[in-house]
Amino acid sequence: MEVETFRQHLESWLDDHAAELAPAFPGAGTLDQQMTQLAKVKRRLFDAGWMQWGWPERAGGTGGSSLLRAVLGEAVTERDLVQPGYFSMTEVLAPTVVDFASPELAAAFLPRILSGDEMWCQGFSEPDTGSDLSSLSCRATPDRDDWIVSGQKLWTSLAQHSRRCVLLTRTGTPESRHRGITAFFVDMDTPGITVRPFSIISGDDEFAEVYFDGVRIPADRMLGTVDGGWNVAMSLLPYERSSCFWHRTAYLRGRLTALIEQVEPDPHTETVVGEAFVALYALRARSHRTQHRLAAGHELGAETSVDKVLVAAAEQRLFDAARELLPAGTIELAADPEALRWRDSFLYSRAATIYGGTAEIQRNIIAKRLLHLGDDV
Ligand SMILES: Cc1cc2nc3c(=O)[nH]c(=O)nc-3n(C[C@H](O)[C@H](O)[C@H](O)COP(=O)(O)OP(=O)(O)OC[C@H]3O[C@@H](n4cnc5c(N)ncnc54)[C@H](O)[C@@H]3O)c2cc1C
Repeated sequence: MEVETFRQHLESWLDDHAAELAPAFPGAGTLDQQMTQLAKVKRRLFDAGWMQWGWPERAGGTGGSSLLRAVLGEAVTERDLVQPGYFSMTEVLAPTVVDFASPELAAAFLPRILSGDEMWCQGFSEPDTGSDLSSLSCRATPDRDDWIVSGQKLWTSLAQHSRRCVLLTRTGTPESRHRGITAFFVDMDTPGITVRPFSIISGDDEFAEVYFDGVRIPADRMLGTVDGGWNVAMSLLPYERSSCFWHRTAYLRGRLTALIEQVEPDPHTETVVGEAFVALYALRARSHRTQHRLAAGHELGAETSVDKVLVAAAEQRLFDAARELLPAGTIELAADPEALRWRDSFLYSRAATIYGGTAEIQRNIIAKRLLHLGDDV
């Protein structure tokens, strides 16, 4: 289907189903409310056939351009039907499963995340492994037809709500670094997995520590090849920065519009809002290009670090502007659902220079890999 035709039909369908899709809670709601809302919206979209567009037919999709997925996420975000980061988890993890799982596995599981029946999580970071991902130590050891995994993951978003995990493990020696990593698609209810949620600064239990104690994983759950997990990880990051960022841009645009409606225009306000607008416009222009490169079949790589720097800059500038321009105490005291929403968004924006690769690491990559300044990182 053509992108514009898809957009028009989708918008009209969303208009017709606005009442049933609307959240049943004011403001941003709690994490549990958002999870329930996400599952409801994805289920309705799936039953009506929207979620399957842009995904390959061999894995249960309807086919068509990946731009259709960007348009869908943008539309549901603009209408405040879902929390964009949670909706976009599909965009972070599912392309990698489609690319690296066996065709049978991909076809069995993609429809489950598209339909909202399941949430998945990303088990990459560990207590001593963040930016330097190739130093990870959660170990997988072969045992006849299976693998046995022991170790710990940290900062695993929404692990307690997830049925599966895209997990990176160490299969080579510690010195093998990125050449000794293997990826698996793990059922979170496998014996030996313990999930301990903990709160982010806004108070929601969004993160978890995940412990693996002799967890048995069938070999057919491997993504890619033995010791080929680095390719899996590197293929995932650009996806995290394509459709997801387009959805996030839609969310930021919505908040900028809300801010403009809530503040009195004066020269200072116009300057602060103008700066936030420019940052957002730069992000949108860049992300637009990235969506089209992805849809045209380009392999995305280090250049998506530019998108990551721009999204973090736009998000922080916008919510800094909100904190400065909204009536004093709106964010600090957060006395009603709308103020709570501003507060949570402001606090979450602080993480934008950390998640998915820190701002410093992205600037290193831009300097060294794109501008060829100094050695490779
Ligand atoms: C909201 C959020 C959600 C997340 N969700 C997940 C998830 O679902 N799954 C998952 O696996 N992980 C997740 N993470 C973890 C995230 O990927 C890591 O926080 C990130 O990779 C940074 O790693 P770290 O926290 O260990 O910091 P570190 O790598 O220890 O970095 C600490 C500081 O040192 C700087 N630094 C490190 N190395 C260098 C260098 N070479 N040059 C210059 N500066 C450097 C960093 O920029 C940073 O400022 C999430 C994080 C956040 C904030």
